[in-house]
Parts: sequence; structure tokens; C-alpha cells
Amino acid sequence: MDPRLPTTFGEGYKSASQKARRITEPWGAENLYCCACPNDQLSAEKVNTQVSDFLCPDCAERYQLKSQSKTLGGRILGSNYQKMIDAVHGNRSPSFFLLHYQLPEWMVRNLLVIPRFAVSPSVVIQRKPLSAAARRSNWTGYILDVSLIPPSAKIPLIVEGTAIPHQTVREQFARIAKIQTLKPAQRGWTLDVLRCVESLPNEVFSNDEVYSFEFELAKLYPGNRHIRDKIRQQLQVLRDRGLLRQPARGQWQRL
Ligand SMILES: [Zn+2]
Repeated sequence: MDPRLPTTFGEGYKSASQKARRITEPWGAENLYCCACPNDQLSAEKVNTQVSDFLCPDCAERYQLKSQSKTLGGRILGSNYQKMIDAVHGNRSPSFFLLHYQLPEWMVRNLLVIPRFAVSPSVVIQRKPLSAAARRSNWTGYILDVSLIPPSAKIPLIVEGTAIPHQTVREQFARIAKIQTLKPAQRGWTLDVLRCVESLPNEVFSNDEVYSFEFELAKLYPGNRHIRDKIRQQLQVLRDRGLLRQPARGQWQRL
């Protein structure tokens, strides 16, 4: 992977975001690869001018590239909330490549992929309409809250300028893919519990340690009065998918 972005593609564009898109799209077509299968070449899709889309011609996995000059990890802006949330519920959302470039050098510093099945309805947050015209048309954008996605589902391809081997990336992608058979609405709970489990300091932990997230989860699911039952159920789901091991009753181990 060449970390230098081809700046010649951005000549003549005044807006920084437009320029960034013109530059990162050809870089993506040259350097991005499929994380879901062994194919090293993605094709760029010109569906519209809003986003950069890529498709794997071998396995049909779809990707959307989003780039920013700020460090990754917080919130990513998206365009059409309704379209995105419908896509998540319908299992049609793309996987996301998130690219962080450094200015003024226009060098790729960090790149990660978020598999589509790690994007649950609860991480797609509706924005308030910004203009009167947008309010009239009922059109709102969305925020992808990356902080709510489990760390192991934010898979690095480039870390501070250093590329991670394709094989490693694909193994991590396949690990998270084990939850893709769950329904999108159900996956939200599974991913939230996985995120809690991954923030615990030790690989081996007890039910009680996961219950310490009860308050946080209750805020995400205000209608649910049985948070502890739900936590235990999701720990079993994660165990059945091979993401956790259960050495003893009430005891768990991250895999
Ligand atoms: Zn593929």
C-alpha cells in the first residue's frame, strides 16, 4: 500500500472535502482490497458523487470509503439517514473503510474497515435537519457513532503509516462475520455486550463484571427492564458464535 495520496486528482477543487474525495477515490481503487475474500482488487462504483463506493467483483461485498483529516474513532458524518437505517435493517448496508490522512503532506496515516454486520441500528444516529428546505423534504443526515462499535470490529489496515498484512485483516473480518446470521435488530444487543466485554481489563471475567455495564446499557435500551437477563443471553450468543468461551458457570473468556 502506497501511503501517498495522488494529489494531482484534486487540482482545481476549492472545497477541502470535495478535493479529499477526488484524491482518496483513485487511491482507494488502487490500494483497497477485499477483506471478506482473498481478492486484492476492488472496482470503484460511480453511483453518485456523494460517496465513494467500491465493490468486490468476486464475492460482491460492498464498501464505502470515508476520509477525514482528523483522527478516527469518534463520529463519522453520513448523508441520508432513512436510506442508511433501511439498509441496516434490510442487511444491505455497506462495510466502511475509514481513512485518516495527514495534511499538508496528503499521506494516509490510518485506515480501518468496519464490517457491515458490525453496524447495528443503534450506531446510526439521526441528525437534526440543518436547513428549512431539508426540514420540508423530511431529509436528515446521520452520524455513525464509531465509539459504540466494539474495538475488535474496527479492523486496522494501516496503523500510523504501517500496513497490516492482508491475511491478518481478513482473519479479523471473518471472526466478526460469525455474528452476521443474527437479525440486524438483535445484533445491536450482541455488539453492545461485545463492546462492554472488550473493555474489561482481563481476558477472563465473570457475569458480575459485565453487570457493571447495566446502567450504560439501560440508557441505550430504555424500554428494557431485564438488562441482566439480556446480558447473560448475549454472552451465550457470543459463546455459541465462537467469540467467547465459558470455562465455568458464570465465567467467561474472550477468544
Ligand atoms: Zn471479496
